[in-house]
Amino acid sequence: MTQTPKYRPATQLVHAGRLRSNFDENAEAMFLTSGFAYDSAELAEAVFKNEVPHYQYSRFGNPTLTMLESKLAAIEGAEACRVTATGMAAVHAAMLSHLKAGDRVVAARALFGSCHWIVSTLLPQYGIETVFVDGRDLAAWAAALAYPTTMVLLETPSNPMLEIVDMRAVCDLAHEAGALVVVDNVFATPLLQQPLAFGADIVVYSATKHMDGQGRVLGGAVLGRKKWVDEVLQPFIRNTGPSLSPFNAWVILKGLETMALRVAASSATAARVADYLADHPKIERVWYPSRADHPQHELAMAQMSAGGTLVAFEVKGGKAGAFALMNALKLVTISNNLGDSKSLVTHPATTTHMRIGAEERAKIGITDGVIRLSIGLEDGDDLIEDFGRALG
Ligand SMILES: *Cc1c(COP(=O)(O)O)cnc(C)c1O
Repeated sequence: MTQTPKYRPATQLVHAGRLRSNFDENAEAMFLTSGFAYDSAELAEAVFKNEVPHYQYSRFGNPTLTMLESKLAAIEGAEACRVTATGMAAVHAAMLSHLKAGDRVVAARALFGSCHWIVSTLLPQYGIETVFVDGRDLAAWAAALAYPTTMVLLETPSNPMLEIVDMRAVCDLAHEAGALVVVDNVFATPLLQQPLAFGADIVVYSATKHMDGQGRVLGGAVLGRKKWVDEVLQPFIRNTGPSLSPFNAWVILKGLETMALRVAASSATAARVADYLADHPKIERVWYPSRADHPQHELAMAQMSAGGTLVAFEVKGGKAGAFALMNALKLVTISNNLGDSKSLVTHPATTTHMRIGAEERAKIGITDGVIRLSIGLEDGDDLIEDFGRALG
C-alpha cells in the first residue's frame, strides 16, 4: 500500500491508500466480488482463526473498501476507518456498536433529521438515556455532562442552520464525564475542519455528500482509534452488515481525487452568493460561517479554514416566500441532497426537518422562510443571476 504521510491533503486525496494487484493497474481497481477463494481448507481455517491475513467475504472487508478506508484515514489523520453503505449507517454503527442498556448519551439538538431520530427515538428503545442540549451553550453542555456519560454526538456546523459547537470545550467536558465524542463532520468536510485536532474521538461522514461530490452514490465512513475500530466497530459491521458496495466505494475513491478542488471552488462561490443574498431586500437573514454577521463567526473561523459549501438564508414572506423563490429558480435545483456538483436548494421545515416537529424546529431556528442552499460547481455569476431573476 502507498504510504504518503508527508504529503498535503490534496495529494493524499489522489495517492493515499492505493493497493495494486498483480496486474499493476494505475487506477484503483473495482473488486466486485462477494467472496474470496482459499488455496486449501487449511488456509481457510487459518484465516478464520485470524492467523493469516486474507480477505474472506465482502461484508467483512474488500480491497476496494480498504483503499477507500486508508485514503480517508490519511486525510483525517485518524488511526483507522471503516466505510458503510450510507452516512446514517455510519452514525448508527458508531453509536450502537458502543452503547448498551443503562448508558447515557448527550447530543446537540441541532442534528441532521435522522441523527436526531436515532438519539430521540431509537436509543431510548434500548434503555439508553438521551439528553439534548443547545449545542451553542457551554453552560448547558456543562450541566448535562455533570453526570457520567457514555457518548456525545454533535454536528458542527449543523444542518441546516450552521450552528457551531465549541469542540475543544465540549470534548474536555465530555472526557471528564467519561464519554467518547462523535462529531458528524459532513458540512465542513475533512479539508476544512479536523475534529480529532480539537479532541474528538470519532468522526463520522456521509460520503454521499462532498466525497462522491457528484450526486451518484450513497456511502458513509467512521474514523477513530485503531483499537476501538478493530474491537468495537468492526465486529458490529461484520455481524450486522451495513457494508458499502465495492462499486460505490470505487465511485467515492474517484470522487475523492477531485474533492480538494471541488470544495475550494464551491466554498469560494458560496461566500460570494451568501454576500449577494445578504444584501438583497427580499432576504431577511443569511447564515454563513465566514461572514462577520454569523452569530458564532469567531468560533467558526477558529475551527474551520473556510466557510464551506452550504448557506442558510431566510426569505421574507415565510413558507410562501420560500416556495415562490424555489419554484422561480431555473439553474438551482430543488433537492434535499447536498455536496453535489449541482447547486441545490431545500426547504428544511417541510422536508429534511419536517418529522422533528414544529416545537423542535423552533428551538433550532428553522423558521418557515428558511432555505438551505448547497453550492455546486457552476460559475458563481450564473448562480447570482439565477437568484436575482428568481427574487425579482
Ligand atoms: C446526509 C447527512 C447524513 C446522512 O447521510 P446519508 O448518506 O444520507 O445516510 C448525516 N449527517 C449529515 C450532517 C448529513 O448531511
